[in-house]
Amino acid sequence: MKATFLYGANDVRVDQIEDAKILKPTDVVIRTVIACVCGSDLWDYYSKAPDTVGVAKGHEVIGIIETAGAEVRNLKSGDLVVVPFVASCGFCDYCKANQQTSCRNIEFFGHGGGGACQAEMVRIPWADGTLVKLPVDSNSELLPSLLTLSDVLGTGYHAAKSAQVQAGDTVVVVGDGAVGLSAVIAAKKMNAEKIILMSRHESRSKLGREFGATEIVSQRGEDGIEAIKELTNGDGAGRVLECVGTQDAIDLSIAVTRDYGTIGRVGAAQYETVPLNFGTIMRNIGIYGGVAPVRAYIDELMPDILEGRINPGKVFDLSVKIDEIADGYKAMADRTAIKALVTF
Ligand SMILES: [Zn+2]
Ligand SMILES: [Zn+2]
Repeated sequence: MKATFLYGANDVRVDQIEDAKILKPTDVVIRTVIACVCGSDLWDYYSKAPDTVGVAKGHEVIGIIETAGAEVRNLKSGDLVVVPFVASCGFCDYCKANQQTSCRNIEFFGHGGGGACQAEMVRIPWADGTLVKLPVDSNSELLPSLLTLSDVLGTGYHAAKSAQVQAGDTVVVVGDGAVGLSAVIAAKKMNAEKIILMSRHESRSKLGREFGATEIVSQRGEDGIEAIKELTNGDGAGRVLECVGTQDAIDLSIAVTRDYGTIGRVGAAQYETVPLNFGTIMRNIGIYGGVAPVRAYIDELMPDILEGRINPGKVFDLSVKIDEIADGYKAMADRTAIKALVTF
């Protein structure tokens, strides 16, 4: 089968490797229908030291079950399934509490050798706990939107949940990537009144408006803070969704949060410190969030897609064949594409 590996900075290759296979009776193997490239796939894309062994890539995929292990109870071959970005057992205390990213038996794709999810076939551990069957067929035009349930839609939703967005709130979304744009969808779903998206890119701010942003702030740094203050009676917003993960993004998020407000942070933190000094404590700002338990949110979000209320698949503004996946990485790295869909 074909599978994607990163060998070094800017060096993405599709290799022919042995087909994925069942290793444990709780596994299934799926044949991929569509997959995609994640912003987080780019973390090591810029800087990875060259290596003769590649890192298996991908964690967002929809596929058809080809073979199911002997202990898989709720799924069978032929089922079309969406795959959350981590595999979780479904029976431990964390899974039962819908906190699957802390599953006591968690497994990550591509960590056990072989390929990960940007591949023609994928081994899914803990199939019953991890997978959600899709009630559409594999030609459905809803498939790209359903693929966002693997990660970005649930991650954006987690930002809004973590910040405790409520009806009538003013929300600032920091970040106009696929997660930030999904956070706009989430804030709208929660009936936020004013949704301010920070975006400097025309195509992204246009899509943000389509998803529900009521205001766009294109300035950065001090100018951006000033612009948001102007839109919020000088106070900042009650809810701020940090969907980037850089020091600048968290500093900005704190600066534009109203006193007694909350921040939901889901950007994969590339910073070590958060300024929780005396000045911040006097403002009673709550910082919540972390890696999203997307498995927990699929049941809540899927009906919105199936019934046409949201169309998060619009974040895919580029489609590439698996053989050309390196072009998808490059376009996202160059910011000429928001998110690349991968077809097979
Ligand atoms: Zn992802
Ligand atoms: Zn578990």
